[in-house]
Amino acid sequence: MKLIPQAEQALALLRAAGHEGWLVGGCVRDFVMGKMPHDTDITTSALPQETKAVFEKAGFRVIETGLQHGTVTVLMPGEGAAERESGGALPGGRQNPETAPVPLEITTFRKETGYADHRHPDSVVFTDSLEDDLSRRDFTINAMAMRPAGTVPIDAEGCDTLDFRDPFGGMADLEDRVIRCVGDPARRFSEDALRILRALRFASVLGFTIEPATRKALFDAREQLRYVSAERIAEELLKLLCGRSAESVLLEYADVLGSVLPELLPLKGFDQKTPHHIYDVLTHTAKVVSGVPAEPVQRLAALCHDWGKPHTFTLDENGRGHFYGHPKHSVLLAEEAFSRLKLSNEIRETALSLIRFHDIWIDDTPRAVKRWLNKIGPALFFPLLELKKADNRAQSPASQGRLAHYDALEERARTILAEGQCFALKDLAVTGKDLIALGMEPGPQLGKALYTLLELVMEETLPNQRDALLSYAGERFTL
Ligand code: ATP
Ligand code: MG
Repeated sequence: MKLIPQAEQALALLRAAGHEGWLVGGCVRDFVMGKMPHDTDITTSALPQETKAVFEKAGFRVIETGLQHGTVTVLMPGEGAAERESGGALPGGRQNPETAPVPLEITTFRKETGYADHRHPDSVVFTDSLEDDLSRRDFTINAMAMRPAGTVPIDAEGCDTLDFRDPFGGMADLEDRVIRCVGDPARRFSEDALRILRALRFASVLGFTIEPATRKALFDAREQLRYVSAERIAEELLKLLCGRSAESVLLEYADVLGSVLPELLPLKGFDQKTPHHIYDVLTHTAKVVSGVPAEPVQRLAALCHDWGKPHTFTLDENGRGHFYGHPKHSVLLAEEAFSRLKLSNEIRETALSLIRFHDIWIDDTPRAVKRWLNKIGPALFFPLLELKKADNRAQSPASQGRLAHYDALEERARTILAEGQCFALKDLAVTGKDLIALGMEPGPQLGKALYTLLELVMEETLPNQRDALLSYAGERFTL
């Protein structure tokens, strides 16, 4: 593993100006684990204005991200940017990841004091001690710093030539795969309750366990999550859901997550009393979450798909449980939770559609599959099948016969798309104008006629050919 050249260059510039500079936090953790960090944080002895001056003098763009907290963002050119006049932009204004600028967050060493509101420090004090800065960080695995030893650029040996600072045993915890607070966990969670969710998020994403004292403290402090803003909660929650250990974290920490999503609590231990299910609703839910692709919307829909079950439960005369209309009820509950969490409209609408349709039966016929492709679009159709498959796999072994059916639907939909078969009005070989040219009046009748033609094409009664469609229209529709 090597450091990204932009980070090396930034550290070299700080050093040349007489300041200390260290990579810190998530990028060090990821580097040690052999993963490519997705963002790069640098901590420095330079005051924000000094950092700004160093990078502006070297010709880089500096954004004052949070001067009062000591943070500036430096935009360093992406690799190869100098050779490209486009400056990293592709046609259409998209950024080329190869040449897009690399943002580095550079923050002055700081201490924090007082957390009267359980979420923001009352004051931020700059310090000249790296250790002070590391001690304010949340978990030991996030409280390590490193920089190239000696001169930069470092050689290909990587780690051998790095200076490491690990005052809280983060490296040992990484090796043992443990999340542990820096300092007293009860105090750290009461300072900033978001750390409770961050602990669960790292446990889920990294597949680590939470060290017992940290675990106990986060259970004790869970009510304090109410002080945390919806946006910060939502961000951590979606990352948690996409983690590799989402299933076990959901089960083990349902009571903690229940502080932000009380809708989860009635699922716990809820016996479905049906031969279709061998798990209680929460266990089933956790399995469905881990059974769909690790995409935020798909995982979120899986999390909420059965929220309505405890509310729609009925027992028949044979003692069997039913949940008539539960998807609709799940939608209502999820809608409320999504607004509370201030999720984007896009996430909200997609997840709600998946929840709404998760239990719907789709026939394995060209007509039915095309109708669904028409109704919800391919972008939702395939995730819906993933949800249905995961839902089915998490039922009782006896009711898993539907998996082959979903595979067949998927295959059929892929063929329809690959062959460019028509399932939408926009792909129909005739338009409203054609029907008007035949003598039809504009208006609702026209729309209905077009849709009738589409249906006939979708069920393969008519070919999607202009002449065939016009001749059918000429014979059958009142012109
Ligand atoms: P990711 O891979 O998601 O970026 P990360 O550890 O880098 O993980 P960030 O939110 O980018 O997480 O934060 C960067 C660093 O800042 C963390 O590694 C940690 O040292 C510190 N940090 C972030 N949030 C908190 C917090 N709420 N309390 C204490 N330290 C925090
Ligand atoms: Mg980060």
